[in-house]
Amino acid sequence: MNTVKYWITTYGCQMNKSDSERIASVLENMNYRKASNLDDANLILVNACSIRQSAIDRIWGQTKIISKLKKKNPNIKAVLTGCVLKKDRIKFYGRFDLVLDIKDLPKLPKFLGIPKKTTEDNYLRIKPKYASRFSAQVPIMTGCNNFCSYCAVPYTRGREISRSAKEIICEVKNLVNGGYKEIWLLGENVNSFKSEGINFPELLKKINAIKGNFWIRFTSPHPKDFSDELIETIASSEKMAEYINLPIQSGDNTILKKMRRPYTVKGYKILLKKIREAIPGVAISTDVIVGFPGETKKNFENTKKLFKELKFDMAYIAQYSSRAGTAASLLKDNVSHSEKEKRHRILTDILRETAAKNNKEYEGKTVEVLVDDSKNGFMSGKTRTFKTARFKGKPGLIGKFVEVKIIEALPWGLKSELCKTKN
Ligand code: SF4
Repeated sequence: MNTVKYWITTYGCQMNKSDSERIASVLENMNYRKASNLDDANLILVNACSIRQSAIDRIWGQTKIISKLKKKNPNIKAVLTGCVLKKDRIKFYGRFDLVLDIKDLPKLPKFLGIPKKTTEDNYLRIKPKYASRFSAQVPIMTGCNNFCSYCAVPYTRGREISRSAKEIICEVKNLVNGGYKEIWLLGENVNSFKSEGINFPELLKKINAIKGNFWIRFTSPHPKDFSDELIETIASSEKMAEYINLPIQSGDNTILKKMRRPYTVKGYKILLKKIREAIPGVAISTDVIVGFPGETKKNFENTKKLFKELKFDMAYIAQYSSRAGTAASLLKDNVSHSEKEKRHRILTDILRETAAKNNKEYEGKTVEVLVDDSKNGFMSGKTRTFKTARFKGKPGLIGKFVEVKIIEALPWGLKSELCKTKN
């Protein structure tokens, strides 16, 4: 029998990427092998996200490619999985051979007509086929109980479930022993983790105590669960990288309320001040939505003001798009596309300035970098603060810690010179 070759197309957040590592593991356990490209595959999986309309558009794009490939080879099978709303899934029935809830991943062999090879029923317990050999994504919880009015996650992933703390610690130990240098702890609401009587700060302390030379990062925290205990833990754990993504979503209290975000702008500012005081040099990124239904020019002015005041290092700016089934989908999407584009541009311009100013602080300094890429004789990697440093070097440095001297700060990166290779 010919080997089945698979191809996984992944859209969305780090959680989806981590899920794709588990899908690959299940398929390889069935002796399926990764195809060299999409055209060469006889099993195509689309691990999608339906958080924004643009993500749905991309699934439609994939269906067109799949139907062309199926015309050439009718034996090709296509599976849709991931964070896709029920209402969106229905649209894709008939275009895929199978629409699979990611929680049903252990049943995939059965759906494909292969005798079950795993006895594992909890998909998060499936050992992933890690895509990187030095940076690993470790989901510690999944789902969300918050029901922000614009968000599909509580409907696609369900309520919060935390993984066993023991299993997480065991996975991280194995990764570190296997030479991994960076551990990303993942969860839609990562800091509400609670399992076996252990909360998120306590889990961080236990992971920090694991012997080895590695960094710990996490995403995505909710401001409401960002406790003093968590701030103190980050500040006192030497392996915790000094980078925090703290989603604000809007700089206007009326809009925050409509978004069902349970904090005020003042509360967010107090929290950020505490974090910056406790963790010197910490870099802060945020997530923000422009053009939420009913967002007036005045509401947006408040977000603009906040961006100038809080001087973020990075921001993931999204233009609002309605998702069927969410509370916000009942509101009129009344900010025009061009106005959303304009607001997006304005925040990007402010961010460019604040990020450039923050990066200036790095000029002349020597910092540690985990090298992750190489292009045209230049290497790039991330500092502990998640800034991208670029420098001349050899591809053999990928996956290693190095020391670089920062020569010039740019808004989105740091021009550097290699000083020392560490390991
Ligand atoms: S906390 Fe995050 S994942 Fe949960 S509903 Fe809000 S935006 Fe979605």
